[in-house]
Amino acid sequence: MSEEYEERLSAFIDSRGARQTPALAGLERKARADNVPVIRPGTQRLIQFLLGTTKPAAILEIGTAVGYSALFMHEYAPKGCKITTIEIDAKRAEEARRNFAAFGLAQEEAGDIYLIEGDAGEVLKAMSGSFDFIFMDAAKGQYINILPEVMHLLKKGGVLLTDNVLQDGEMLESRYAVTRRNRTIHRRMHEYLDALLDDDRLRTVILGTGDGAAMSVKM
Ligand code: SAM
Repeated sequence: MSEEYEERLSAFIDSRGARQTPALAGLERKARADNVPVIRPGTQRLIQFLLGTTKPAAILEIGTAVGYSALFMHEYAPKGCKITTIEIDAKRAEEARRNFAAFGLAQEEAGDIYLIEGDAGEVLKAMSGSFDFIFMDAAKGQYINILPEVMHLLKKGGVLLTDNVLQDGEMLESRYAVTRRNRTIHRRMHEYLDALLDDDRLRTVILGTGDGAAMSVKM
């Protein structure tokens, strides 16, 4: 595939983002204007598709930012689905809380969206329960470290969706072509993808959607 074809392909897909409610579209616009990274249009459609097919009752999200994807998932998951979402950055967590409130969603543990403020590396170790859909969208270099806890919390038959696995195309380059600053994350993402692909408990496919997504199902 030529570079030009790839660019046109992703522009084509991204120009056909998910249909969403005006309130969600407004929140997405605001997040982008504030330079908050939120799920890309292709990923929105992928999530809508996955929620429609897997019909989860419990979702875990790692990386809330300002709550856009949590609210998006809440909109398209079956009624009554509980979403637990983790965010390390206090300011973003605060904004997410405000957004959840603006969408009329309770913040208590019994509510539909439950935000945990903290480092996923610590929070996940202390968590129990099981989830039928886990969305990994936090610090990319950390995925490999938190995979054991994520596997523990993922139900059999559950889906793990990992975003940004292609790192804006850097993952297609050899480590020598990657800037020194990005080498560690490049190596860790390779380790992470290998761990997903080699794990007998998982079936994994890597998709070019958005910034690259790995979709795994636990056997
Ligand atoms: N899922 C969000 C959305 O689409 O609306 C976007 C999430 S943004 C790409 C990644 C978020 O993960 C950032 O807000 C960042 O602060 C958070 N994050 C990074 N490392 C984290 C960690 N160790 N634990 C929890 N959150 C983390």
